[in-house]
Amino acid sequence: MSQQNQRTLLAHTKEELEERVVALGGRPFHARIARDLLFAGARSYEEMTSLPTQLRHALTAELPLLSSELRLMTHASDGATKLLLGFPGREEGSDEVETVHIPPHNPKSTKGATLCISTQVGCPVACPFCASGLAGLVRNMKAHEILEQFLRGMDVGPIGRAVVMGIGEPLLNYKEVRAALDVVNKELGLGTRKVTLSTVGFPDRVREIATTSPPFQLAISLHTPFDAERDVLVPAMKGVPIEDVLSAGDFWFKETGREITYEYVLLGEHNDTPDHAHELGQRLRGRRANVNLIPWNPLTPMSSDPEMPNYRRPRTEVVAGFQEDLEEAGIITTVRWSRGLESDAACGQLRLHANS
Ligand code: SAH
Repeated sequence: MSQQNQRTLLAHTKEELEERVVALGGRPFHARIARDLLFAGARSYEEMTSLPTQLRHALTAELPLLSSELRLMTHASDGATKLLLGFPGREEGSDEVETVHIPPHNPKSTKGATLCISTQVGCPVACPFCASGLAGLVRNMKAHEILEQFLRGMDVGPIGRAVVMGIGEPLLNYKEVRAALDVVNKELGLGTRKVTLSTVGFPDRVREIATTSPPFQLAISLHTPFDAERDVLVPAMKGVPIEDVLSAGDFWFKETGREITYEYVLLGEHNDTPDHAHELGQRLRGRRANVNLIPWNPLTPMSSDPEMPNYRRPRTEVVAGFQEDLEEAGIITTVRWSRGLESDAACGQLRLHANS
């Protein structure tokens, strides 16, 4: 079997890993040491000098440490680092995801960076303004692949928060996402309130995870208060009334005590009109929710596609007016202008979210 098709260390359960290590001549506790050292930053067995030399050689030959390859790393002028990770053994270019490491606004802050992670290769939701879904879903990521993004991110710098806002729809691969986040919580010590899941808000799934999962922060991508328009902007939710999404959000708040953030990508002269702001205000009035307005990011070469409809960025004063209208309706509203627009960090998907 070629090395690239072998299961990696992270793909093994604790028991499986002990068995492998023993079969390679080690002691069961060496398994734990290897895993801990991987989490602590070792990126080859040779660096794991607390393991016996023979075992290090055997592990190097038999048990790959990581499954991804770092294919590209770009640095934005604002400090964000974007990683393109590929999975060997599959066709180049067809099996890649993005992970972004976004340091806090204030360079003196000790809070650590926000890591934006992907959960699927491609995306089945197919929002027409988003680069990720244009080619549809390639496959779900495995828990260990999702987890591996944290290790890659930690190689860039310390992580204090995670946003599941990269490529893919986390609620359509929730078992693997949850398994990865459980490890992140237990072994990397990242608290659940430091993790935000962003979803288009499948009502049944939102309700289910509200009662069965740790209380992550939840962000629901709404993008319009009008049902017919949402059918177009979020095709995977076609036919699901916005009211059902909002009432699932209310249920989330009731169960977890955590307020929902509704994300709203502002598409210039499209969904940024006073009518939209007014109707959104009506819909959210009295609900325990806040709104995050995201002026649409034009796409960069890394993610551009000739098929992409010709959206434009909203005008600054229109964004300000939209925010004012919502605040007049009593809804706390923040605007996220992405930083580093001139660089790859302004990728359609991976908005910069570091300061919240
Ligand atoms: N599928 C999930 C998570 C991934 S997308 C979801 O839809 O929430 C994370 C956020 O980025 C979503 O709100 C999405 O609509 C937004 N987004 C996608 N492309 C964008 C772009 N070009 N500019 C600004 N935001 C974008």
